[in-house]
Amino acid sequence: MAGPKGRNETWATETTAVHAGEFVDPATRASSPNLVMSVTFAPETLTGFSARDEQDYEGFVYGRVSSPTVKQLEDKLAALEGAEAALCFGSGVAAAHALICGRLGKGDHLIVPDANYVGIAELARDTLPRFGIEVSYVDVSVPEEVEVAIRPNTRMLWLETPANPTMKLCDIAGLAALAHAKGVRDVAVDSTYATPIATQPLALGADFVVHSLTKYICGHGDAMGGAVIGRKVELDALNLEASVHFGGILSPFNAWLILRGAATLPIRMKAHQEAAMKVAQFLETHPAVSRVFYPGLASHPQHGLAKRQMKNFSGMMTFQTKRPGPEIAARMVKELEIIHYAVSLGHHRSLIYWIGTDDIQASTFRHDANQLRRYREYAGDGVFRLSVGIEGADDLIADLAKTLG
Ligand SMILES: *Cc1c(COP(=O)(O)O)cnc(C)c1O
Repeated sequence: MAGPKGRNETWATETTAVHAGEFVDPATRASSPNLVMSVTFAPETLTGFSARDEQDYEGFVYGRVSSPTVKQLEDKLAALEGAEAALCFGSGVAAAHALICGRLGKGDHLIVPDANYVGIAELARDTLPRFGIEVSYVDVSVPEEVEVAIRPNTRMLWLETPANPTMKLCDIAGLAALAHAKGVRDVAVDSTYATPIATQPLALGADFVVHSLTKYICGHGDAMGGAVIGRKVELDALNLEASVHFGGILSPFNAWLILRGAATLPIRMKAHQEAAMKVAQFLETHPAVSRVFYPGLASHPQHGLAKRQMKNFSGMMTFQTKRPGPEIAARMVKELEIIHYAVSLGHHRSLIYWIGTDDIQASTFRHDANQLRRYREYAGDGVFRLSVGIEGADDLIADLAKTLG
């Protein structure tokens, strides 16, 4: 009874999360995935020496090219996204860097959102232009703006929805169709906030999905990782360059932890959404709170798109307070008992952090006046970014109520 290896198209998402990529180990009959830390593998037959030769070889040769526990996670992630293949990296940013630098070169043009995850925004602004990649920053929630930004040399459109930290959404299907029709080769979606439980960007026409595995997919705040998910032929080529030459691969130990986390992703996402909805409703009616952005609330400006594009509203929200954010943040650091005042998100425990608009403008976005006006429509002088965990909603509400006064 070896069990189905890999995946089965007819499985429910819950079954896929548990079983895809997993199998009973034929050598030991172990039911759970083995943690294989070996760096090198002794082939049964003579193979070539370079990674290029290894691509035609079925087995494992060297840990930077691929290794068994990481491969099991890759198979599970591909199945969850309904994709042919996945490739893991040491962090979400390593995955983004691998995809962008593996696909683009000098003279190519990249469109990124005018506000997205800071690490990738800074990579696009500060690093890529040094290597001759042209970058435009566009409000991707407005398709007409994407359309006018596309140039003959635009090779990639980078999307993120919901976006960190604004909670702005963008229409993946509409933008992918538009970009492809105008000759843009690659549409990549950072789907970290949505997870494959909410949205499967490839089915909507995207070419690549990127995840920070550090967040919901691991889900326990104890391992960093990243993934690029898409078609096998393109990921094989990316593997040769990005894994083998850039080298930012995922450790098998982290892959093993993330495999274990990913198995409960569907049930965790249900719990995140349920608690987040209650917390968002509480915040929306609280007198000290001026604004809440949660895709599941009817008050979210893109709630209609959220309902179309997201099967789960996830656990991420922002809110703004009437009193100055830094003042309340200082109280949170001292007084919160359950929620941790800390960066990161998507963990089983709730996390909150104040993101001041002036600070993030200076460090990261450097918007012009028009972009800044639009950023402030969603973020005001700053937002509390709240990642609602899987604790009891009433406990989270009581914890927040104390610090809101
Ligand atoms: C955290 C995050 C990343 C980066 O992931 P790391 O694992 O921290 O490198 C990328 N995109 C989004 C949306 C994120 O929230």
